[in-house]
Amino acid sequence: MLPPPRSLQSWTQWAVALCFPPSCPGCREPIAHYPQSASGEDASLCPVCLKTLFRLWTPLCKICSHPTLGQEIYCSTCVRHRPLFDRAFSAFVYVGIVQQMLHRYKYRNDRVAGKTLEQWMAKSSQSLEINWWEYEAVVPVPLHPKRLRERGFNQSVRLILTIPNLTQSQLQLHWLQRVKATQHQYTLNYQERQQNLRRAFQVHEKAKHLIRGKRVLLVDDVLTSGATAEACAYHLLQAGAKKVDVLTLCRAVL
Ligand SMILES: [Zn+2]
Ligand SMILES: [Zn+2]
Repeated sequence: MLPPPRSLQSWTQWAVALCFPPSCPGCREPIAHYPQSASGEDASLCPVCLKTLFRLWTPLCKICSHPTLGQEIYCSTCVRHRPLFDRAFSAFVYVGIVQQMLHRYKYRNDRVAGKTLEQWMAKSSQSLEINWWEYEAVVPVPLHPKRLRERGFNQSVRLILTIPNLTQSQLQLHWLQRVKATQHQYTLNYQERQQNLRRAFQVHEKAKHLIRGKRVLLVDDVLTSGATAEACAYHLLQAGAKKVDVLTLCRAVL
């Protein structure tokens, strides 16, 4: 139980905390009895969940932000196949509590997890070395309309809207469209998957003349193989974009 407050002003807060004890957004366990052991993005998590929160560690690949070995500038994946995007930024490793919370956010509309992830995105967008002034357009990875109806929201749009300092003119929420739902791709190899994904996206007819010469930042919740980001980058570059970078909250680490 929380100790009683010393000052009179804190009595109300104390009473509220007693009735509605703060809980960990990762596991929903009350966290009032835990000592404050972390700061920043981690402050709201209990120690158990905190143990499975991993930030990306340096050195990172200069293209895709996958951790690299020793002094290597690029990871082995980017050496084998240079992505169509110039640079991908990400804050966390797609594992542990981030993966669980993202899953609950997307598939069970868990707003507590979602709110926390959105706050982490907002903070990460400021701490990563992103030159926000550089981008004329910030574009979310779109969902297929059917998926959007089922889910009720596009997590990439929600994540974008939490980023501070973005101007209205930078937000381009409808430049890309998902015209085909891609469900099961496990049996396909990388090239087949890439072809399949390219057919799943297109540039909106009304946006075609706007994209030429623009530097675009594409935003998604997670980067796994990079195939989705590449498929979107392909269409933006085909429409004349000068360059495409990618920002995701987290990314898979092999
Ligand atoms: Zn927890
Ligand atoms: Zn790389």
